[in-house]
Amino acid sequence: MRRTTGHGYPLNIVQDNGYTRSLRALGRDLPRPPAILVVSAHWLTRGTFVSCSSHPEQIYDFAGFHEELYAVRYPAPGAPDVAEHVVRRGAVFPVRCLDDWGLDHASWAVLLHLYPDADIPVLELSLDVSRSERDHYRLARDLAPLRDAGVLVIGSGNIVHNLGRMAPDTNARPYPWAVRFDEAVRAALLGGDHDRLIAYDRGLPDAALAVPTNDHYLPMLYTVALQRPGESVTFTNETIQHGSVSMRGSRIG
Ligand code: ZN
Repeated sequence: MRRTTGHGYPLNIVQDNGYTRSLRALGRDLPRPPAILVVSAHWLTRGTFVSCSSHPEQIYDFAGFHEELYAVRYPAPGAPDVAEHVVRRGAVFPVRCLDDWGLDHASWAVLLHLYPDADIPVLELSLDVSRSERDHYRLARDLAPLRDAGVLVIGSGNIVHNLGRMAPDTNARPYPWAVRFDEAVRAALLGGDHDRLIAYDRGLPDAALAVPTNDHYLPMLYTVALQRPGESVTFTNETIQHGSVSMRGSRIG
């Protein structure tokens, strides 16, 4: 199972809305995986790292929010055995183990809705900022054996992520450019057009506005790279929050 999810604004951590309800419904529907690998839009590195702590620290990587958010706990265990496997599989690019990185909110803000019991081991994969989109896609393909072992791979970012244009209201009318880009990605996902997704900045409409930096877009490429021929994509959520943050969730397999 591969899936991609928006994680969006931190207030989703404590809100009951269409997006969080879609995650809860999905969690009830998915088989229980032996471990979860989250490709995180919030762990940007030079070189590729995997978190290998057996007790990952919960990272509150957002500032200025209500203290209620900082009281939320997600004490999932780590998955050092899976991390070791990822390091050994690093045939395309070397992947190194880091035991002082825990779970940032790209992981736990999603997982607390998806698997509220926090009893499934979780590890994160970082995004190497020095790599091209195609490099990320190739690296992801190297992770295919994890899938065979039943590990759930989640790409956690946002397909459209322009915080500079964010409207204050969660339910603000989406910008037309945000809708155009999000729908073009939707069509490419449905068509299995991975090249179009990799070269999003050269073929998809309004890419410069929708993806001002690619950190939140890249996690999706990791999940589509693991799509098998003929495998379908379904969407678990298709909302756009704050006008400029796509919460589109897709499920592959
Ligand atoms: Zn984010």
